[in-house]
Amino acid sequence: MSMPPSNAALPRLVDARKLVHREQQLAGTLPRSALQRLLLATESVDEDVRAELTFARDLQGYLAVDGMVRCRVQLLCQRCLEPVPEEIEATFRWGVVWSEEQGKSLPKDLDPVVQEGDELNLYEVLEEEILLNLPMVAYHQEECVARDRFHYGEDAGEADEQRENPFKVLEQLKGSSRKR
Ligand SMILES: [Zn+2]
Repeated sequence: MSMPPSNAALPRLVDARKLVHREQQLAGTLPRSALQRLLLATESVDEDVRAELTFARDLQGYLAVDGMVRCRVQLLCQRCLEPVPEEIEATFRWGVVWSEEQGKSLPKDLDPVVQEGDELNLYEVLEEEILLNLPMVAYHQEECVARDRFHYGEDAGEADEQRENPFKVLEQLKGSSRKR
């Protein structure tokens, strides 16, 4: 999509039916503070989330929303347990419906999004798209930050010593059990 970038906040509540009727395009941001589930699922969210949306009827007459959502977050590296930055970008194609039941009859290329009455909570459904696209596990791509620090930092010796300790303890335990 080629919409001019906008830093304006997107409306939280929209009436998708009206926006489809106007063939509206929206581009803007979602304030991080409004995305509690995303904040809980990550170490931090680095900047406000950006999204672009195009509302229109598809060829079969369904209310469709084509969109993209993008954000930068910090996740926990599963190797060193330090934050690792991740860029999340998701594209989607929603079919707006008024009940779960109605969603089942949508064609396969449309993901059902349920609007309750006159209001669709845009933040909630966009947040959902990001959550679906978060990697299950994250790792630093090359060297881990923490490992670098241990190997080349000033306190490298101390860190190595601490790391040896559990093994020493284990050896001692083994030794004492063998004596018995
Ligand atoms: Zn790491």
